[in-house]
Amino acid sequence: MAGEWTAVEGESHKKRVCYFFDSDIGGFHYGPGHPMKPTRIRMCHSLVMNYGLYKKMEIFRAKPATKREMTQFHSDEYVDFLSRITPSNMNQYIKEQHKYNVGDDCPVFDGLFDYCSISAGGSMEGAARLSRDKCDIAINWAGGLHHAKKSEASGFCYVNDIVLGILELLRYHSRVLYIDIDVHHGDGVEEAFYTTDRVMTVSFHKYGEYFPGTGELRDIGIGKGKYYSLNFPLRDGISDENYKSVFEPVIQQVMEYYDPSAIVLQCGTDSLSGDKLGCLNLSMKGHANCVRFVKSFNKPLLLLGGGGYTMRNVSRAWAFETGLAAGVELGREIPVNEYYEYFGPDYELDVKSSNTEDMNTPEYLERVKNIVLDNVRRLKGPPSVQMSDIPKLPIDDAMDDINQDEDLVPPDERRPRRLLDSRVQADGELSDSDDEGEGGRRDRVSYKDRGSESRSRSSETEGGTMRKFGIGVGILSSGPAGSTHGAGPSGHTTLVPQTTAAPTSMDVDDTPPTTERGVTPVEAIKVVDGVSVDEHKDKDDMAVDENPPADGETS
Ligand SMILES: [Zn+2]
Repeated sequence: MAGEWTAVEGESHKKRVCYFFDSDIGGFHYGPGHPMKPTRIRMCHSLVMNYGLYKKMEIFRAKPATKREMTQFHSDEYVDFLSRITPSNMNQYIKEQHKYNVGDDCPVFDGLFDYCSISAGGSMEGAARLSRDKCDIAINWAGGLHHAKKSEASGFCYVNDIVLGILELLRYHSRVLYIDIDVHHGDGVEEAFYTTDRVMTVSFHKYGEYFPGTGELRDIGIGKGKYYSLNFPLRDGISDENYKSVFEPVIQQVMEYYDPSAIVLQCGTDSLSGDKLGCLNLSMKGHANCVRFVKSFNKPLLLLGGGGYTMRNVSRAWAFETGLAAGVELGREIPVNEYYEYFGPDYELDVKSSNTEDMNTPEYLERVKNIVLDNVRRLKGPPSVQMSDIPKLPIDDAMDDINQDEDLVPPDERRPRRLLDSRVQADGELSDSDDEGEGGRRDRVSYKDRGSESRSRSSETEGGTMRKFGIGVGILSSGPAGSTHGAGPSGHTTLVPQTTAAPTSMDVDDTPPTTERGVTPVEAIKVVDGVSVDEHKDKDDMAVDENPPADGETS
């Protein structure tokens, strides 16, 4: 029967899962032909609800992050810019668009700031609930936007919800482990914590002529953060088995040596086989094995989204991983849902590997793994941190400090490799119909440019000067600045769980906005004939997403 699930065997105890979803998220559009489609979050949610996972977890709609909260990491000027820019006034901000890298990969679209607020609010609130022991696992598939920098958009990311979530965790946890399984390097998060031992970042990603050009094996952190950044560069086409053969031993050893008290797992699904921008060959189960493995350490766990550009597969994988978090394995047959036709012709949940060649030879993987494990062994036991060291200064004072090096890099040096460059030609079977209307974007940057860009962001090695981009020094080591969180522990933990979900409902609907971070009323669900009605979904949604209108194709 469709839509069934079975309990996962061998779980010692059930996890309390908080799942964040805001129905507004599916209504944002990066623009015709853009591969990032927020609708994928709603497709995933449709599967989650129609599989009945609401019975196994609490569902929340987070309060959107405020400008002030975003400036815990981002510069005031950049956040202000994001909150002001719209498609209708963008011509007045040409200089700023260049400065903040907004325009190509990261277009200006209607509701841009609201979109960022929803993404960041879910991750911050998830972190806050974990810290206060309100749940064991928090999930925000609208988060995981790992490329955003302090004062710069990058790779479809504007606000780095991950850094904001980790900063919230650091108010209560002395050591946080960040793991990134997106096909792209988790550069924004690595950079933010590159000089601190309080966050260890571990990224597995395609490396070599690929966005964002960073994440070399030899980039391991600097200063106090030396050995607290790990990078595992991969070649095209890695299989489930090979991925597992490096992921598990590395994470196992990181857990032993670093002993984090909380974990953030960025679950970018562009590492799946058949992704439009990806080049790896993971099946859904191979991808989900990372979630299963990380969960098995029984630490507070924040599961975030990230990349993922073949929508039907993104939603499959994240729904399956939501199930695993809640202790169940979703059945093969997809239940009827609002996006059912996307899952044809077999209407099955699985995302299968292809028979593409794995360019990661056993010798290569073994060699890289041994170097990475060697670096982990250089950690001399987990660093101990006195939590009283966390300063609690007003955010305005704090921002003065970390803004100082803002303009170190001349604007004309900001020439990031475009994420769209890495777009692969999916074979006919795997490509979505919405692959049309691209307008040649993928060729925008010349090969000459690519060569120079691929090195432009590399970090300096130990003892070198500052990294070229962003904040230069990690936000946690720049005095009191980074650790302060103006919102306070109650800032993100005040929502009431949605306890009235009807069995067949699929969508968290609107609630009246709250004027402060007080109690939000239990959210209402509208159900019509077993499928809920989302007021934000209009017919144009699907038209824009799947069949770019004619005027878009010529732009
Ligand atoms: Zn990615």
